[in-house]
Amino acid sequence: MSFFMGKGGIMDKQLLHDKALVVFSGGQDSTTCLFYALQHFKEVELVTFDYGQRHVLEIDVAKNIAADQRLKHHILDMSLLSQLSPNALTDHTIEISSEAAIPNTFVPARNLLFLSFAGALAYQIGAKHIITGVCQTDFSGYPDCRDMFIKFLNVSLNLATDKDFEIHTPLMWLDKKETWALADSLGQLEYIRNNTLTCYNGIIADGCGTCPSCLLRNNGLHAYMKERD
Ligand code: ZN
Repeated sequence: MSFFMGKGGIMDKQLLHDKALVVFSGGQDSTTCLFYALQHFKEVELVTFDYGQRHVLEIDVAKNIAADQRLKHHILDMSLLSQLSPNALTDHTIEISSEAAIPNTFVPARNLLFLSFAGALAYQIGAKHIITGVCQTDFSGYPDCRDMFIKFLNVSLNLATDKDFEIHTPLMWLDKKETWALADSLGQLEYIRNNTLTCYNGIIADGCGTCPSCLLRNNGLHAYMKERD
């Protein structure tokens, strides 16, 4: 595995001496970020937020991947989120709809909360870098996935802690096809395809094939495979 596959130069080598914390859900995007982090940082730890996900399996999937990769895995209890925002992700009686401008899986400011807690954890474990799979290309109406938000949050976090954290968003400008291409370039396309959970119906790997999340994931995969072959 080459640690110097980036643009090269002092920056990449410097990063190798640093520790990174990956915000990790066990889905395609954050697992791609995990492998990205392994290639770019010397030491990698993971954090998963437990907020009463629709599928408890999500936490197990994340735990299994962390154990597989022999990475230290922090699971933070964020169950207070279900108090703040009962919605389709946490209230099992509500059906998921993607028709509204902002999907009803929306938890207001969820990334603000998660990344703030990730920042506090990164501080405690001495990690300078925080990696998150947020993406503006497929941002589905979530305002706190946008690049501008992340940049401002990075500044706020540094002001709040008097540190110089760097929040990395390797997927920010990628569509799903390009995210699969990144997984492939990291040598992990098959692993990510077979071990991650993205499906709203809780089916691992290729999923149910019909929910909005599966459609996005599988369309991207097929587009990439077609282009590659
Ligand atoms: Zn599905």
